[in-house]
Amino acid sequence: MVKQMYPKLTINLQYFKENVAAMVERCDKCGITIAGVIKGTTGFPQCAQAFKEGGAKIIASSRLEQIEDTIEYGVGLPTMLLRIPMLTEVDEVVRLCDISLNSEVAVLKALNEAAAKQNKVHKVIIMADVGDLREGFWDKDEMVEAAVFVENELKNLDLAGVGFNVGCWGSIEPTPDNLNELVSIAERIEARIGRELEYISGGATSTLMRVIDGNVPERINLLRCGEGIFLARDLDVFYGYDMSYMHQDVYKLYAEVIEVRDKPTHPVGKIAIDCFGHKPVYEDRGIRRRALLAMGRVDYGSIEEIFPVEKGVSLVGAASDHTIMDVEDAERRLEVGDIVEFDVNYASLVYLSASRNVNKEFI
Ligand SMILES: *Cc1c(COP(=O)(O)O)cnc(C)c1O
Repeated sequence: MVKQMYPKLTINLQYFKENVAAMVERCDKCGITIAGVIKGTTGFPQCAQAFKEGGAKIIASSRLEQIEDTIEYGVGLPTMLLRIPMLTEVDEVVRLCDISLNSEVAVLKALNEAAAKQNKVHKVIIMADVGDLREGFWDKDEMVEAAVFVENELKNLDLAGVGFNVGCWGSIEPTPDNLNELVSIAERIEARIGRELEYISGGATSTLMRVIDGNVPERINLLRCGEGIFLARDLDVFYGYDMSYMHQDVYKLYAEVIEVRDKPTHPVGKIAIDCFGHKPVYEDRGIRRRALLAMGRVDYGSIEEIFPVEKGVSLVGAASDHTIMDVEDAERRLEVGDIVEFDVNYASLVYLSASRNVNKEFI
């Protein structure tokens, strides 16, 4: 197998663990359990292990292969599937996951049959849609009926609770209002089934804002968090929360310079389309010094989502496997073979961690 050092993504597991512990401590005070979400880091089982060591009580992902890796690695925590199960995967969901999030009665019935075949009881959380418009019951009467149906008719399912997700498609913020709406749906169900639900799961990373503000309704007791813990970035960048008590450099990206030259900044010749079929606009800044990096959009997605640490450089553009960096005003004189460091965000991390071309190093 070919051995390549760069591009390289480093993952500091100690920092990762410390970030989890910092957030678990804050959530504990509000009676909230954290399910550590590993999908943003392509389910590295080392990260699932760090979630466990930091105090997360469940490992969650949208993808079964990541959950399987976690189990095989021996992490040993209960596992949760975040994406509504496909009908074609219900057997595997029951085999690999202790809990799944659900919004379709047909899927619940299929999960029940799969659980019966495997002699198991599978936990389900029924999802409400409070306005973000991705998954979940829109009609809350229908949701209550579905929950009661699970409780009374589906013997191999355990109705563990209710949940919602916001801030993913519709960019909706979790508020005391929509969280209370979820609690009241839970209480309607509880009144019908005559017992308390185990979980009321009021969202993901964005609900950590309510934990920090101290305005989470008391009965919310489970959050499913990834990004806000291991990158500790969005709550700071998008909402202005002070996250300085958490490490924002769990992940670092390194790329190697393969060419350094003075070149025009505007392409020369008849302009047609770029490699992805787009027609970009090029600014003419005269002749400038540029460094070419052996890393491209296949590895990280878009240049807007990676952040050079090097002083005085900027990213000009990229193709599948190349990145062009303006180094005219760089503090360090860059040469072929130099290594350049970047910070990453969620949008680039999902690609970088999944890319086969990127060397991953746990430190
Ligand atoms: C992705 C996802 C999460 C976790 O999102 P983060 O932003 O990484 O905290 C939680 N719940 C569901 C349903 C998800 O799909």
